[in-house]
Amino acid sequence: LVVTKTAYKARWIIDGVRDSEIADGILVVEDGNVVSVGGGQPPSDAQLIDLGNATLLPGLIDCHVHLPFDASADPVDVLARQSIPYGTMMAYKHAQIVLQSGVTTVRDVSSPHGITLGLRDAIAAGVVTGPRILSAGTHISITGGHGSVFGVEADGPQELRKAVREQLKAGADFIKLMETGGVYSSGLRETPDTVQLLLDEMREAVEVAHRAGRKVAAHAEGSEGIAISLEAGVDTIEHGNHLTEELAKVMVKQGAFLVPTVSAFRAVVASNDVPAEYRRAAATLVDASKNCLRIAKQFGVNVATGTDSGTAMNMPWTGNYLVEEIKFLVELGGFTPMEAVKSATIVSARALNIDSIVGTLQEGKLADVIAVKGNALESLDSLAKPFLVVRSGLPLYQDLAASEVARVASRV
Ligand SMILES: [Zn+2]
Repeated sequence: LVVTKTAYKARWIIDGVRDSEIADGILVVEDGNVVSVGGGQPPSDAQLIDLGNATLLPGLIDCHVHLPFDASADPVDVLARQSIPYGTMMAYKHAQIVLQSGVTTVRDVSSPHGITLGLRDAIAAGVVTGPRILSAGTHISITGGHGSVFGVEADGPQELRKAVREQLKAGADFIKLMETGGVYSSGLRETPDTVQLLLDEMREAVEVAHRAGRKVAAHAEGSEGIAISLEAGVDTIEHGNHLTEELAKVMVKQGAFLVPTVSAFRAVVASNDVPAEYRRAAATLVDASKNCLRIAKQFGVNVATGTDSGTAMNMPWTGNYLVEEIKFLVELGGFTPMEAVKSATIVSARALNIDSIVGTLQEGKLADVIAVKGNALESLDSLAKPFLVVRSGLPLYQDLAASEVARVASRV
């Protein structure tokens, strides 16, 4: 007898909808989808998996990664030399680690040669396992702009129009634009405050992307760059360190999302391998982010979670940095633990426009679900070590031995 219906029982379930956990909950999964979630008894025709003193919650979403990056002190230098096959192997390896960290969806916001587009397709086709991937292909910057060593360079509205269409043709799920400079300077001696793409260029890119039904993400660290991005109508502000109250109001009005990536700047500050000038720039951005998160919370900006994993010294590949981002929301922004978990699940799903299929545990949605030991809201650190990761109903990673209480009982 083939059992296609599974009932997961856990002491707590965070469904991503309610404001508190469901106590002694049952999550029923069939054919990859959530069938039901709530209390009570499991259906008699389901295989029961009792996870014991654990929390079940929707799979986490990291809205800002670079899967082929190796997190070395100078990733730009590495990327300039990296071959496509090598980068592809790196991206595959990192995708496995991401998945085991409980992140069932990532948005890759630029990979050299559009490498991640191919990995996305291979995972979707079942060639290899991994998280669900949304890929920007390769980002677009001005000539000599931020990340231009491996990005697509375009100047003027006409070239932006062409560059966006090239990424769409390659299969990009969304478009990534480098609006400002960043910590790692290009030949233009940029700073995080430097405006790079101008308003007419941004507007053109956003219009072409939106007419194709694709969202636009803008790397924008300084306030002027954030303002230009919002005026052009972008959907997500990446980093957004120098967010102001005025800009927060605009974000709320336009329904734009913020993806803070504080852990990336923290990682640079903490490393002795990084040149001092970059560490200073990153330290300024960490300070700014404290304000940014407070303002975002105060004005009700939609905050999604992203790690910028793979950038300098930013090693999610040795532990779940997304948990750090979740904790920053609580510690720096004043979010409740539940609000922070929702940022990493349903709010991030909305930012990526995939909230109709994932982000909550609700009937009809794909069963992307993770289990961690104990009560996740009482110890957010527990989110770093899930012992069960299910994507589209398939248990892709499980370490049930890690949960002393786990026991599997088949009722069929
Ligand atoms: Zn990035």
